Amino acid sequence: MQPLNAGVRRRPSRSDSMTKRPIKSQSNRTPIPASVAIEVLTEAGYRCAVPTCRGIVVLDLHHIVPVRDGGQNELENLIALCPTCHALYERRKINPSSIRIWKAFLQSLYRAYDHRTLDLLWFLKKVPNFQCSGDGVVSFASLVGAGLAELEISQQGFTALVGVRLSEAGSRLLDAWSSADEAFLTVPREPTR
Ligand SMILES: [Zn+2]
Repeated sequence: MQPLNAGVRRRPSRSDSMTKRPIKSQSNRTPIPASVAIEVLTEAGYRCAVPTCRGIVVLDLHHIVPVRDGGQNELENLIALCPTCHALYERRKINPSSIRIWKAFLQSLYRAYDHRTLDLLWFLKKVPNFQCSGDGVVSFASLVGAGLAELEISQQGFTALVGVRLSEAGSRLLDAWSSADEAFLTVPREPTR
């Protein structure tokens, strides 16, 4: 694990901030190149990769395969974790296989959707009875298009309101993501025509 400040709070004792220079480690490990660090943070949306956390203030870069076991400073082998989740991992409260699966979710989801769209997906989980105007519903277009969210139009006086809620597929996706359900990622998909 190598520390990296990615948010508004800086740790006085740690100077490895988002600068152009490589991220230095406390040992004589090869530093993580800044370009790789930025790729890892971008993939995670500059947030902790634990889906139920998504902390943003300070992030560490964690080697999924430890350096001592030959893990490299590569995008594929690095994941962003906040110090709290890192500590939970060190105390074996977070399973290494969960970290690997969350990385796989990040890789597939953030290639398919932008961060704002995925934020909206979590938003719908937190606000299950969300309603907006016809204009507001455009934000949810890609989720509705992908079958992850559904719309329900209702009339309130002269105003049409649109209820936006998670579809069954959207709920399944978030449940699998937060519980690190590997089966969700390995289920064969129907071939596209
Ligand atoms: Zn976290």
